[in-house]
Amino acid sequence: GEGAGGDNTTSPTDNNTTSSGDNTGAAGEGKTVGVAMPTQTSERWIADGAAVEQGLKDAGFSVDIQFAGDDIPRQQEQIDQMITKGVDALIIASIDGKALATQLENAAAQNIPVIAYDRLINGSEHVDFYVTFDNYNVGIQQATSLLVGLGLKNVDGSDGDATGPFNIELFAGSPDDNNATFFFDGAWDTLKPYIDNGTLVVKSGQTDFGQVATQRWSQEEAQKRMDNLLTANYNDGTTVDGVLSPFDGISRGIITALSNKGYADDAMPIVSGQDAEAASVKLIQDGVQFATIFKDTRKLAAQSVDAAVTFLEGGTPTPNDTTTYDNEVKVVPSFLLESDIVYADNIKELLVDSGYYTQEQIDKGG
Ligand code: BGC
Repeated sequence: GEGAGGDNTTSPTDNNTTSSGDNTGAAGEGKTVGVAMPTQTSERWIADGAAVEQGLKDAGFSVDIQFAGDDIPRQQEQIDQMITKGVDALIIASIDGKALATQLENAAAQNIPVIAYDRLINGSEHVDFYVTFDNYNVGIQQATSLLVGLGLKNVDGSDGDATGPFNIELFAGSPDDNNATFFFDGAWDTLKPYIDNGTLVVKSGQTDFGQVATQRWSQEEAQKRMDNLLTANYNDGTTVDGVLSPFDGISRGIITALSNKGYADDAMPIVSGQDAEAASVKLIQDGVQFATIFKDTRKLAAQSVDAAVTFLEGGTPTPNDTTTYDNEVKVVPSFLLESDIVYADNIKELLVDSGYYTQEQIDKGG
């Protein structure tokens, strides 16, 4: 868990923050950026935080980075404090996208530019820029990996040899995270034709986002729900063939529930994922989880740093998408990055050769 001591705080007086002796530091000279991250329970946010912090320091900024332990009031408080301390810009990965309107109001009053990081901040006109991945496409990729695993599609996009019908179950992410509906919508639109023609059967009948969502992306909640689904729908000798999972932590909860109910590692249903967490990449390497989606957090961090630099130099970052992310008050100018599907046979190419992990980290599962 995340005790109070687990949250790293780097104040401007900490080591490294004011010490850049080279010219790359010019952009951030004398300026501090506040970085608010949701949690340290999932690897990806730790990696994001570290990459953003390093990128900002390389650009000469001081950094005030805070993790909120998935606690909404705590994140609000951390951002309030950054504003009080007078940070020059904010980079925020929200816990609840709808809970930060007051903070953003205060930031705007102090002319502090706000960059939403990975997750959109809803209900505020003061989101100045949004850096993220193409989240709808992530959902398409998750569903595609499920279809490939079942043999209904080939990796090259052509139709596979399998005919089904296959029993599947669906999981989505946290309802307060704007990304969760994007992932689910992309996946649903991809799976729906197969459900409509009977090739895929959601045996539980649970197909609405509200029924399949997982509060706070919790592995434990997912394990419980999978366990319940198995008890309620698969006690008649039928088996689950595939499970759509939106996040590796959820995937591991699903796999644990399946194991507990007697599914062997080499007879696991096809389970998708997201984030290429080392523990799940190892499971993919071992043939237990089928796939995950790799979103290179180094690239996202670099985009957020670029955006901060541009704002603080008086400019406006250039979006590559100005239509998708409506936060209920405005359409937020966005920069979307591309993601990749990781299967057992491209782990090395995508994750090791790119320097994201060493082979040893994968072998150890983190
Ligand atoms: C991120 C995913 C992540 C999930 C759970 C989402 O907002 O986009 O990468 O798996 O949160 O942390």
